[in-house]
Amino acid sequence: MSTATIVGSGPNGLAAAVHLARQGVDVTVLEAADTIGGGTRSGELTVPGLIHDHCSAIHPMGAASPFLQTLGLERHGLRWLHPEIDCAHPLDSGDAGLLYTSVARTVEGLGEDGRVWHALFNDLARDFDILAGELMGPFFHVPRRPDKLALFGPRALAPATVLARLFRTERGRALFGGLAAHVFSRLDRPASSAVGLMIGASGHKYGWVVAEGGSQAIADSLAAVLAEHGGRIHTGVRVSSSSDIPPSDLVLLDTSPDTALRVFGSRLPNRIASSFRRFSAGPAAYKVDYAVTGGVPWRNADCGRAGTVHLGGGFDEIHQAEKACALGRMPERPFVLVGQQYVADPGRAAGDTVPLYAYAHVPADYPGRAEEAVTAQIERFAPGFRDRIVATHVTPPWRLEAQNENQRGGDIVGGSNAGLQVVFRPRISADPYSLGIPGAYLCSASTPPGAGAHGMPGYNAARAALKYLGTETGAPSVMSVERDENRA
Ligand SMILES: Cc1cc2nc3c(=O)[nH]c(=O)nc-3n(C[C@H](O)[C@H](O)[C@H](O)COP(=O)(O)OP(=O)(O)OC[C@H]3O[C@@H](n4cnc5c(N)ncnc54)[C@H](O)[C@@H]3O)c2cc1C
Repeated sequence: MSTATIVGSGPNGLAAAVHLARQGVDVTVLEAADTIGGGTRSGELTVPGLIHDHCSAIHPMGAASPFLQTLGLERHGLRWLHPEIDCAHPLDSGDAGLLYTSVARTVEGLGEDGRVWHALFNDLARDFDILAGELMGPFFHVPRRPDKLALFGPRALAPATVLARLFRTERGRALFGGLAAHVFSRLDRPASSAVGLMIGASGHKYGWVVAEGGSQAIADSLAAVLAEHGGRIHTGVRVSSSSDIPPSDLVLLDTSPDTALRVFGSRLPNRIASSFRRFSAGPAAYKVDYAVTGGVPWRNADCGRAGTVHLGGGFDEIHQAEKACALGRMPERPFVLVGQQYVADPGRAAGDTVPLYAYAHVPADYPGRAEEAVTAQIERFAPGFRDRIVATHVTPPWRLEAQNENQRGGDIVGGSNAGLQVVFRPRISADPYSLGIPGAYLCSASTPPGAGAHGMPGYNAARAALKYLGTETGAPSVMSVERDENRA
């Protein structure tokens, strides 16, 4: 029986472990932290009884993941819950752009900009599963549906500032800007629309869902499938060098390229080591979790029914804030993402007190304090919010990194999405997962298709590893076949 060691139990480490174990490989996962899950951990942070997501919260890409869909994770307690409104984007005027799972309902709410929204998202949402099969793997591949890629490509390559000009109202422009800002990079650069289009299209197909009971359910259900196939996980084991890894046929690192450099040192071929040294981290998140009595007093009542609220005012303000972060300057009014997971999942609250999740985009490694800036952005659109805060838990960039070394300088997307790195990560290669050492692979969000709790980098890296072992057939791909079988 072949053996594999996976370093890291984030969604990608666990996805890789599960795929290998299901193919008959004897799998051991080593995790530095005391609990499993990496970016999908949750638990109490403020007051007893409130469940907060430590990192990932909203999961259009998790629900849409071609690999996760094959695993029957619901048998192990994973249930996706839908808020009534997927995302709200309030403006100072009291107006708000609203994103619904239904394209038609979103279009209706956008008035004269409905037509633009329909043109940008309707076909992408309709064909999302086909697109996911093309886009959620390595860049270099033979496309099965070049026609669908041709529809996505020009839109995705456009700077978000260019697509924003298609809208006539601030409501439409801002709603689009909030989605685009998930790229965590300058919005006036080529390909800065790609991430926003993907999360918009996947959301229109699957919803901006939350995991019942907290994102930890994603990790726990993956771990349960792994256990069914004989895999094991050891927590509290940090891997610093290759001597910490037991002899195995395969080693998959659910880590940053930096950690791969440290672990394998001079064994990494020079060309790979130097591209890993050039790999750049993205801007940081500054997270604040609140316990709030009586919910958030949004000026626009629709915001109270949304799972996600994007705060940053109009498109131009968001664009300037993102540009400042990318240039290393703290914006006075940063872009803030608010998660109201309790709207879809009331069990996370305790009576009248709800867990509110928020993080601001700040410069990489930002050493200052930003909790006041986060609170002020919420207060701006929800006057009286401050008076309802019962407790806060602050996670600055340095603490994000201390909790998980993948989050270098507070980077939550596994490496900057600026320029070519959004698709060619961690380097330009037909096999971006390979570490150039026989049997060794990188499987984290620093590999295609990048960040999000969807497990696709882990699954793709595991496939590459199985090919090396000679047990992967190459085709048929799980994306096109297993999912259909699962649904049948
Ligand atoms: C604040 C925040 C908000 C986010 N919001 C969302 C969201 O709403 N939706 C979404 O889809 N995604 C979101 N993300 C992103 C998502 O969480 C990540 O993209 C995803 O978790 C990446 O998975 P991964 O397996 O590659 O790495 P991680 O989840 O980072 O897991 C890596 C694991 O490896 C362990 N590890 C690292 N180095 C070592 C070592 N040397 N030895 C042993 N163990 C090691 C770490 O402790 C960690 O457990 C968010 C992330 C953050 C931080």
